[in-house]
Formats: sequence, structure tokens, C-alpha cells
Amino acid sequence: GQCVLVCPTGALGERDETDRALDYICDPNVVTVVQFAPAVRVAFGEEFGLPAGTNVEGQIIAACRKLGVDVVLDTNFAADVVIMEEGAELLARLKQGRRPTFTSCCPAWINFAEIHYPDVLPLLSSTKSPQQVLSTIAKSYLPAQLGVPAERIRVISIMPCIAKKDEAVRPQMVHDGQPETDLVLTTREFARLLRREGIDLKDLPSSQFDRPFLSAYSGAGAIFGTTGGVMEAAVRTIYALVNGRELERIELTQLRGFEGLREATVDLGAPVGEVKVAMVHGLGDTRKLVESVLSGEANYDFIEVMACPGGCVDGGGSLRSKKAYLPLALKRRETIYNVDRAAKVRQSHNNPQVQALYRELLQAPNSEIAHRLLHTHYASRKRELQHTVKEIWDDLTMST
Ligand code: SF4
Repeated sequence: GQCVLVCPTGALGERDETDRALDYICDPNVVTVVQFAPAVRVAFGEEFGLPAGTNVEGQIIAACRKLGVDVVLDTNFAADVVIMEEGAELLARLKQGRRPTFTSCCPAWINFAEIHYPDVLPLLSSTKSPQQVLSTIAKSYLPAQLGVPAERIRVISIMPCIAKKDEAVRPQMVHDGQPETDLVLTTREFARLLRREGIDLKDLPSSQFDRPFLSAYSGAGAIFGTTGGVMEAAVRTIYALVNGRELERIELTQLRGFEGLREATVDLGAPVGEVKVAMVHGLGDTRKLVESVLSGEANYDFIEVMACPGGCVDGGGSLRSKKAYLPLALKRRETIYNVDRAAKVRQSHNNPQVQALYRELLQAPNSEIAHRLLHTHYASRKRELQHTVKEIWDDLTMST
């Protein structure tokens, strides 16, 4: 990448990771790829004085270019791929009578399950999150497209989420010392990075993704940013998989409230029939739901879990207001729903770039190669809970 102004003394060095992002961008041997999450584009303008919920997708792309980023991709595209994989996986599990299946795109939920409820891990979808799916595809598909070796590619993702930093360094997401996602910046860090480089988002004309791959998305991919969105997106695709035609009423309004637990019954048509889906947000309600699933009391087929109340539109890495939490989240969410409504393609499986990726690389959802690249596994970390005072003491004294 080519470089813009950096403080030569390092006096502006922060304890966050904006420095490392600039190191990648400024390194002429590195091809920097940036991706940004569905929620980021509607939860970022406020940092620069724009009204809450303004869609600044085009300005984020322009800002990345101005910084010197080489390739800008969209995590929304990967959300569509996740739906292809997770939808096929769910259908296979339903046919085997394995239920419920939990979504797996929220890393705070994964950490919570691994540490507190390892018994629930076999029920989690094995599909990686959109962040990890896009990073993996960037490193396995872009080298041939760009004519650069994978070792020279660094993926930076901009996320509304602190737990995504954790996810990027999971041992399952690092291969031979090479992480899939090299660096995660929270929305707040990205704002700091732009300010530090003298870039004001408000002044930037909107720009567009310039490459015909890994950036187009459907309305279904867009709604991943809000609670209930993953479920809605999945239902649209599963319905089409089962029935060979599109679902007519594609907005699952029962899932669009703000209650901690919401549920709906969806008729997927023969041979699957009716399925009971639920969405839960906030870890308090998640805990209650997981306990009732494990005790056999709850009766669901598919459950979406988001650790942050309201989902990623009010994620822990974005600008948050304690006082105006609900109005802010509602505005951001409304913009996301409008993106879906205005989208020409509203189902993941109808995204032409997704179709091309399956033709050229992945073959079919849940194929062997799709499994190798896009699926993961989970492991109990209950031991972290049982860390004794003595062990903590030993750790502390060993590290000094
Ligand atoms: Fe991250 Fe919160 Fe979204 Fe989960 S719900 S992925 S913790 S921002």
C-alpha cells in the first residue's frame, strides 16, 4: 500500500492497534485488504457528527482508499456465504433429527458457551463467522485474482465488536502461525485512525467497491447487523432450498422487536414442515435459554444468539450512548432494514458473486472444500472458570 502521514516520533502511538494497521498499509510489500461488518456502515457516521443511523458505506470505502488500503471488501458478502453454509448445515441436521442448531457468528457467545456451557457446543453451527469466512476466502481466492502470493496479503477487519479481536486469534483460526484475519480494529479505533490521519468522513465523496468480487451483497447479508437478521436471512435461503422457489413474505416481523427472547414458527414446506425458530440477545437471556435447552424444556429448531442487546448495531466496539441506547440502535437498525428493502437481490443464494464463488472455488455448500475452508470447531474452556487462586498466582509469578 502507499502511505499517508504518520507521526515520525511515534509520540502519537496509542495502546490500541491503529499503529499496526498503519504499519501494514505503509509496507510496500504488503497487500492490505480491508473488510467492514454489516453494522459498521450505520454506526460510524455519528463519530464525525452525522445523524445517527446514516449509511456511510461509500465514505468508508473512500476513507480506506485515502489511507492507502489496496483492496476493500465487504463483510456483508461473507454474511451471504455464511447463510449458504449454515442453511445447508441446518437442513442436514434437521433431516438427522438433531435440534436445535445455534448460530455461531457472535464470538462473545462462542466464548460464553465454551467457558460456561460446553455441553451446548455440539449444537453450534460449525460455520465460521462472516469475518473469518471473508479472511479465509481473501487468502485462498485473491492470490490468483490479484497475482500476489497469499503470504503478502494482510486482512484488516473493521468491526463493531471487541470480541472479534479474540476470535481472530483463536487457535482454530491460525494455521502454521498465519492468522486468517491479521488485525481487527473496532469502529472506535477506525474513527481514531482516520482522525489521526486527518481524514474527516464528512468531507469524503461516497465511493464504490471497485472489484467484481467479494463485495456484492444481498439484503439478507445486510440484515446480519441487527438481531434476528441472521435468522431471517437463513429462512429465506432454506425455504428456497427446500421448495425450489422463493419465500413470498420474506420479512419475519415477529423477530424484529427488542425483547430479549423472540420466537416464530415458519413453515418451510414438505418434507421439513414447520420449524420453531428463536432469537435471543444479551447474555442474561442467553443463559436462561441455554439452560432450558439443556434441560429439554425449550423446544426449538434454530436459535440465533447475539451477545449485545440489539445485536451488532450497538456492539461493544462502536460508539455507544448510555442515555440514548434505544433511539440510536433503532435508527441504525432502520437503516439496515431499508438497505434490505431497497436491495435488488434479497436472498443470499441469489447473490451473483456468491454463485460465482461456488462455481469457481467452493463447488457447493458443505462440500469438502467448503468444509475445509469455512467451517470450524469449538472446545470446552471450562477450566478457565476453575482457575484456582494458586494457579493465578503461579501464572503471575512465572510471567514476572
Ligand atoms: Fe460482537 Fe456484540 Fe455483534 Fe456479538 S452481538 S458479534 S459481541 S458486536
